[in-house]
Amino acid sequence: MKLLLVEDEAGLRAALCQLLQNEQYDVDQVANGPDGLEHMLTGVYDAVILDVMLPGMDGFSVLQSARKQGVRTPVLMLTARAELEDRVRGLDNGADYYLTKPFQTQELLACLRAIMRRPGETTYSALCFSDLELHQQEGRLSCTTTHQNVKLSAKELRLMEYFLREPGRIFSRELLAEKVWGYESEAEYNNIEVYISFLRKKLAFLGAHAKLKTTRGIGYSLEEDT
Ligand code: CA
Repeated sequence: MKLLLVEDEAGLRAALCQLLQNEQYDVDQVANGPDGLEHMLTGVYDAVILDVMLPGMDGFSVLQSARKQGVRTPVLMLTARAELEDRVRGLDNGADYYLTKPFQTQELLACLRAIMRRPGETTYSALCFSDLELHQQEGRLSCTTTHQNVKLSAKELRLMEYFLREPGRIFSRELLAEKVWGYESEAEYNNIEVYISFLRKKLAFLGAHAKLKTTRGIGYSLEEDT
């Protein structure tokens, strides 16, 4: 899961970043409003943690602008207790949740899990499609027909998460590269082909009905083999 953290207090930013990385989130961090907006507009994040008081552009304006431009990423807004009256404004602007500082780390993690949970997705820990089950905490992919299991590397796990969350969606190589290697990374797109081939070998080993399909010139999707 890829997160964007927009927070100008360096100490808090570092602490949150560490906490989230310990929970296996892939975190990009920025320290001001304009950078936050620019990153949000890439659409590569699974959730955004957005502070309200930010240099350059406040969190409300960042969120409002991102929503106007079609960004639907779940957003958790952070604010000082004194700014509590702004709560309604935050929700009106499309924030999914509002957390007042100081907060407990467990509360933050619970909020994040809640805003990222999509309708119809019953558990956060196992993502399923066809006869595939992804156990994210263990990095393990299993097949319910053959009862085989296979371990995934960190990047394979991240790719599989995206496919399993939206089966049938065709992901372009560019989007997958951004999601897995990062917004500003120089990752070559043919890395994606290498990882897709690793995943295909693992799906073949599992004997799963689900397959990774290539749509030439467009990208890859997870489909049920009929
Ligand atoms: Ca701040």
